[in-house]
Amino acid sequence: MSVVADVAIIGAGLIGAAIARELAGQDLDIVLIEARNDVGDGTSKANTAILHTGFDATPGTLEARLVRRGYALWQEYAARTGVPVERTGALLVAWDEEQQAALPTLQAKAEANGYLATRIVDAGTVYAMVPDLGPGALAGLTVPDESIMCSWSAAIAMATEAVLRGVRLELECRVDGATVLADHTVLHTSRGDIATRWVVNAAGLAGDTVDALFGHDRFHLHPRRGELLVFDKLARPKAPVIVLPVPSKVGKGVLVSPTIYGNVMLGPTADDIEDRAATGTTEAGFAFLLERGRRIMPSLLDEEVTTAYAGLRAAHDRDDFVIEADAAQRYVVAGCIRSTGLTASLAVGEEVLERMRAAGFTCTPRAVLPEPPQVPNLGEAGLRPYEDEARIAADPAYGEIVCFCERVTAGEIRDALDATIPARDLGGLRRRTRAQNGRCQGFFCGAAVRAALEGRGAR
Ligand SMILES: Cc1cc2nc3c(=O)[nH]c(=O)nc-3n(C[C@H](O)[C@H](O)[C@H](O)COP(=O)(O)OP(=O)(O)OC[C@H]3O[C@@H](n4cnc5c(N)ncnc54)[C@H](O)[C@@H]3O)c2cc1C
Repeated sequence: MSVVADVAIIGAGLIGAAIARELAGQDLDIVLIEARNDVGDGTSKANTAILHTGFDATPGTLEARLVRRGYALWQEYAARTGVPVERTGALLVAWDEEQQAALPTLQAKAEANGYLATRIVDAGTVYAMVPDLGPGALAGLTVPDESIMCSWSAAIAMATEAVLRGVRLELECRVDGATVLADHTVLHTSRGDIATRWVVNAAGLAGDTVDALFGHDRFHLHPRRGELLVFDKLARPKAPVIVLPVPSKVGKGVLVSPTIYGNVMLGPTADDIEDRAATGTTEAGFAFLLERGRRIMPSLLDEEVTTAYAGLRAAHDRDDFVIEADAAQRYVVAGCIRSTGLTASLAVGEEVLERMRAAGFTCTPRAVLPEPPQVPNLGEAGLRPYEDEARIAADPAYGEIVCFCERVTAGEIRDALDATIPARDLGGLRRRTRAQNGRCQGFFCGAAVRAALEGRGAR
């Protein structure tokens, strides 16, 4: 078999997409291999979508460095591609004396991470910032640069740019084995063998399984399920900023946050489970969130719940991201990226290229790069096609609303089906347009959206 690629990347979530985009800035043949039928369809589609400053990361870790760098890279990349980001800021609330006593330590940690803008505020300021908070808040820590963003568009933008730079995207292609030979590796996939010089493991929650194909046993992953409730857009004024708890060992805790789509979310839970496919929500999770929500913001529970969802963090037994290159096998792993992968993604891409170079990989930058793609604006704060008169005048399909809850137009659905990486099912359409994402969850527009999809021969 002839070698078909310089680099094969396993996994097209946020991390694999970012690595593919970065490596494709070099003059290389790259194949991006994904078991599912879309990019960003694993953990990357079900998170809280906060662009973290990294104020609470453990100083000195790789994660702290890459979150900080990723935050900076996203400012620029979001502006260039249209991925919506809103700098709402965050307020970390202390609900008891122990948490209040922890605030100076958290502030010192932020400063050790190079983030100097936090302020400790008293209860009066806390309630002035978020009047709907429940009683009992003692103090807070403001983090003015924490932001909300769209993790769906983030993955699509990076993967699309990778494809525009020449990356071959192989969807519905699962890597089941690897044979490492003297100068190349053969990946055994559900769609045949792929021969490649280098392999990058960006398999998320399957990172340890793929690592084992290369004979490594350096970390073990298990899913830590995070369930979230999404409240109707009428609740949005209750959450002017991201309301954070004081973080604990198991994670960042339950927050109340505005979403980029104009809703409010409550969550996530943090349940260590074994089933790596258990992305369903549970009654216990629902009860837990209601109990927490009652404490944080009781009046939020009077609002209507639009939907609930769950995502699986790749919880691990290491204290940090694991990004390591094995020069002998020409193999890199980007693993143990648990709760901050959206923020860190672009920086992980840079780091992987650097580690490969340090391990002897040679490549040269492409002489000419295409312009980055423009993703459709899914952010509620920006101009959407249905309200853009000039755009509607130029193309009336942008004035023809199909999904009334989210005000998604026929023009946007058509564009999503014609995109460089087109939507292949209803979930893919939702992530590219917001169709069926609103309060009726597709009850009214479901038939029309499905007809548009089936009209293009999609499954
Ligand atoms: C509840 C929750 C809240 C979060 N909140 C935030 C947040 O606010 N901010 C933030 O920055 N981060 C957040 N995160 C973390 C972030 O979502 C993840 O770190 C990120 O999505 C990980 O991306 P990934 O590409 O590693 O994994 P994934 O998105 O899971 O991608 C891995 C891909 O690899 C594919 N794959 C696996 N094995 C194979 C194989 N053998 N062959 C081919 N393909 C394979 C999978 O199908 C999958 O698509 C949160 C996560 C959760 C669960």
